[in-house]
Amino acid sequence: MRNKIQKSMLVVICATVVSAFIIMAVLFYAYSLNHMKKELKQEMSYIVTAIEISGLTYLDDIDAARVETRLTLIDETGEVLYDSREDDYTFQSHAEREEIESALKNGSGEALRSSETIGKMTYYYAVKLKDGMVLRASKTLDGLMPVVLGAMLFMVGIATIMIVFAYFLAKWQTARLIQPINELDLEHPLENTVYEELTPLLVKMEQQNQAKDEVADMRKEFSANVSHELKTPLTSISGYAEIMKGGLVPPEDMIRFSEKIHKEASRLIVLIEDIIKLSKLDEADIAWEKENVDLYEMCMETCNRLAFQAEKKNVHMELIGEPLIYFGVRQILDEMIYNICENAIKYNVDGGSVMVWVGSTLQGPKVVVEDTGIGIPKDQQERVFERFYRVDKSHSKETGGTGLGLSIVKHGAICHGAEIRMESEPLKGTRMEIVF
Ligand code: ADP
Repeated sequence: MRNKIQKSMLVVICATVVSAFIIMAVLFYAYSLNHMKKELKQEMSYIVTAIEISGLTYLDDIDAARVETRLTLIDETGEVLYDSREDDYTFQSHAEREEIESALKNGSGEALRSSETIGKMTYYYAVKLKDGMVLRASKTLDGLMPVVLGAMLFMVGIATIMIVFAYFLAKWQTARLIQPINELDLEHPLENTVYEELTPLLVKMEQQNQAKDEVADMRKEFSANVSHELKTPLTSISGYAEIMKGGLVPPEDMIRFSEKIHKEASRLIVLIEDIIKLSKLDEADIAWEKENVDLYEMCMETCNRLAFQAEKKNVHMELIGEPLIYFGVRQILDEMIYNICENAIKYNVDGGSVMVWVGSTLQGPKVVVEDTGIGIPKDQQERVFERFYRVDKSHSKETGGTGLGLSIVKHGAICHGAEIRMESEPLKGTRMEIVF
């Protein structure tokens, strides 16, 4: 970042210096050219005045002086009568030269072009004399270039000094800008008072830190709960086994004891299975394979699997709906529907009923499970989705509940972008909706 800022600062400064240099060079050239034109015109007005006073012989007099300015005298037909250079080309007809034409017509004329005679960029200025002849003065731009080049060389020197100065300035300024960022306290982002522009980033960091803390707390709580939940059945198993080992159990009670050990071991297995399911749902990088699932068929299978459990509890089960294809993860959808239906039986009353409805609604595919069971008190309706939370711990344990079922449902819904809605009234029943 430091290098990037430094580099971009330098690029901006160099670009500014170079463009300023180019603009100044062009302006200086234009100014010098203009100055030269003015000088030539001034010179010309002196010569014209001198000729008017002392006649054309004045031209021969200044010829001896051999000034840088070339003078040409042309008559009305374009015939060259005099030229201070006096070579072969100079005496060709000048009638068509732009400045001569203009001088003959308007009294004066000027032109800037490459000279046919000497092949150099030349400035011409012509004036019509009183007797009708035209006197022309010209000067090559040769003298201009050394002046401009000299000035440019001087400017290059200044530009180089400015760029070197800018390099050190950019370095110093970048370090000054970066320093507060390097000194940020990332543990407590909101306590930093650096740049206002960083506030959204710092707020985001604070939120992330909080989220991280929450996840860490949740993990700690979950581990503590898991240990506790695992310890209870294991303590029972260990206790029964110890009694059996000591030979304290009469042979007729052996079966009862073995049954208790078996029941606790089965509870342990269910618990571990649920923990594995939850941690799998927690893993962000598992790529679940989605497929077309018929939710109606899935509910029917679930009802069949739970038929024995329902019969044992004297609960009547009913499935209403129509085939409904949904693109999702079969295993997770099955877990979700199974857990909700199982709860509807587990927390039902003797002679109660469970109604399962599957169908398509305006909001999307929907699965509804309604029971006439014991219901959930209002203040605990949110909490039942927390891990290991049970409304009535002893009742849940009695029915083989782990307190993880609805957490699995919640995670499954998140996985599918679905919503879980719950309506429940104690002693009346519960209605659970999965809206996909
Ligand atoms: P569990 O394994 O104990 O059933 P869940 O996570 O599935 O755990 O449910 C959490 C708690 O929510 C249950 O212990 C129970 O008290 C309550 N609960 C869930 N479903 C129902 C329902 N249909 N009727 C009444 N209470 C329910």
